[in-house]
Amino acid sequence: MKKFKSLLFAAALSVLAGSASAEVPSLTLNNGMKIPQLGCGVWELSGEDAYKSVSAALKIGYRLVDTAQYYRNEAEVYQAIVDSGIPRGEIFLMSKLNPHHSTESAVRQALDESLKKLGGYIDLMIIHWPTSADEMQWKILEEYQKAGKFGAIGLSNYHPDGAERILKIATVKPVLDQIELHPYYSRADEVPKLTDMGVVTQAWSPLGAGRQGLFKDPVLLEIAAKHGKTAAQVILAWDLKRGVVTIPRSRNPAHLKENFESADFTLDDEDMKKIDALNRNDAIWGI
Ligand code: NAD
Repeated sequence: MKKFKSLLFAAALSVLAGSASAEVPSLTLNNGMKIPQLGCGVWELSGEDAYKSVSAALKIGYRLVDTAQYYRNEAEVYQAIVDSGIPRGEIFLMSKLNPHHSTESAVRQALDESLKKLGGYIDLMIIHWPTSADEMQWKILEEYQKAGKFGAIGLSNYHPDGAERILKIATVKPVLDQIELHPYYSRADEVPKLTDMGVVTQAWSPLGAGRQGLFKDPVLLEIAAKHGKTAAQVILAWDLKRGVVTIPRSRNPAHLKENFESADFTLDDEDMKKIDALNRNDAIWGI
């Protein structure tokens, strides 16, 4: 019965999702690894929904997946990768250390659990948010990276001064910082500072988590109409042109496909300026 259900699900996926033809650009990280600039996030998705979402996303053509210990869906995300039949080396899989682990043994145990759930290797492991224990956590991440368990290590929710603090104690540089970033919180001053440090910016809640009314913004709708695209696609194309990695989330295969197709057109400089001007320093979570 379970097998029949998954066959049915696979058939539904192939009708709904279909593969898309968009060519997603990659960025080169400071250790030489390449990361696709557009991926899918799975925050707030139950294990089952994360499985479905990642399955649909991989079928469409996504090759970057962002999970976290905190999301409690790492095992299902990995199962979707295995079941996709896509060679593991073609997928960039990232996860996040839950930073409430404040002793060395708890950090190691948490990292080992992630590795067990995610098939023994993680392309990029990042610290989910800064805490007073993060320098100790960073040293352990370095150890795991040097042992080949992680391809690269990085940060999340660090302002440039926090990233600089980690850089000062690092023997392995953070490759990336995943931060809240969308047109109402564009962080125009912070992105170039991270770039200068050799740290790629990755946008979380790139669509304002669906909470900010971005899809109804008249400027975004005007630019969308000009290109025959949607407001969501315009936002993601803005990320791509800024050199930011972006990881929108959806459970809906049609939205996953729509988001993926933000890679098949380019905004012009005038569009970029108009979107840059929408900034209100309006952070959703205020991290
Ligand atoms: P998001 O900005 O990706 O928005 C998701 C919402 O938009 C959902 O409600 C979804 O149904 C809707 N949506 C998606 N595509 C759409 C489309 N084309 N048209 C209309 N609606 C659409 O929100 P997010 O999930 O907060 O952020 C994306 C990912 O970033 C997360 O899933 C997670 O992986 C990561 N994240 C990281 C942190 C962190 O602290 N590091 C925090 C939040 C999110």
